[in-house]
Amino acid sequence: MDKIIDGKKISLEIKDELKEEIKTFKTKPGLVVIQIGDDSASSVYVKSKQKSATEVGINFLHIKYESDVTEDEIIAKIKELNNDSSINGIIVQLPIPKGLNEKRIINSIAPIKDVDGLTYENIGKLISNTTSLISCTPLGVMELLSRYNVEISKKHVVIVGRSNLVGKPLINLFLNEDATVTICHSKTDDLKKYTETADILVVAVGKKGLITADMVNEGTVIIDVGINKIDNKLYGDVDFEEVYNKVSLITPVPGGVGPMTVAMLLKNTITSYKIMNTSK
Ligand code: NAP
Repeated sequence: MDKIIDGKKISLEIKDELKEEIKTFKTKPGLVVIQIGDDSASSVYVKSKQKSATEVGINFLHIKYESDVTEDEIIAKIKELNNDSSINGIIVQLPIPKGLNEKRIINSIAPIKDVDGLTYENIGKLISNTTSLISCTPLGVMELLSRYNVEISKKHVVIVGRSNLVGKPLINLFLNEDATVTICHSKTDDLKKYTETADILVVAVGKKGLITADMVNEGTVIIDVGINKIDNKLYGDVDFEEVYNKVSLITPVPGGVGPMTVAMLLKNTITSYKIMNTSK
């Protein structure tokens, strides 16, 4: 049996589904990405979001500011977009230049348009298991497990990495599906002690080769969120070749979680569109 969880294939299926759904809408959904400064990696990510959004039929608006823009200027623009009914999703491409208050900027986005799921309101709703817009990468992880029929209830899920963007939302997403969750981080003593007891192991650290074969049990499902670019080649956090024989399913890097993140951004935009258009 093929053990690969094919995120690329699933993301294309999701995009096709969204494209068909958008065809039934009276108007096109709108997504805005606000980019501040000239980070070259950010420009690549924005282009990829633009390409995918346009392909499925979402109107995409790219607003770009120089790095000397003021916080108030950005927030005034976000408030204007909050009040624009043709816009369903607003994201601020991270990272933003130092000196700007990221939390204040993000929290000025109307929660219904917060398609990155990063406002305090959406995080609070996730923690209290109320419907909300959820951060795209964690949502992509859950979608992959669901589409590969991986049982989550009663399983022991070990997450390595506790960032606000990936690790922390995953705690609640797994808890909400009745898993028993362990979360590890850089201060965890004896990482192997935890990883080898995982039924599902999610690794989101950013260190090539962190997880080796001796650290995982036979039959584990591994989701490798890590992206490490070395000599122009991409690697995950898991020693893929070594662990492949032991695991039951595993995401490759590239082609695993990565493509799902953009697909979930589009999905969240459609979710927001539907809520905005039924609550009128
Ligand atoms: P981050 O904010 O840098 O967080 C990294 C986490 O890893 C922290 O919680 C850190 O612990 C922990 N950590 C560091 N060294 C460790 C070690 N030796 N053992 C155990 N834990 C350790 O990173 P992030 O934004 O969550 O991203 C993580 C990785 O996922 C990166 O490679 C990133 O590029 C990738 N990523 C991929 C996607 C995608 O679409 N596929 C999306 C987002 C991120 P402390 O909290 O103690 O510092």
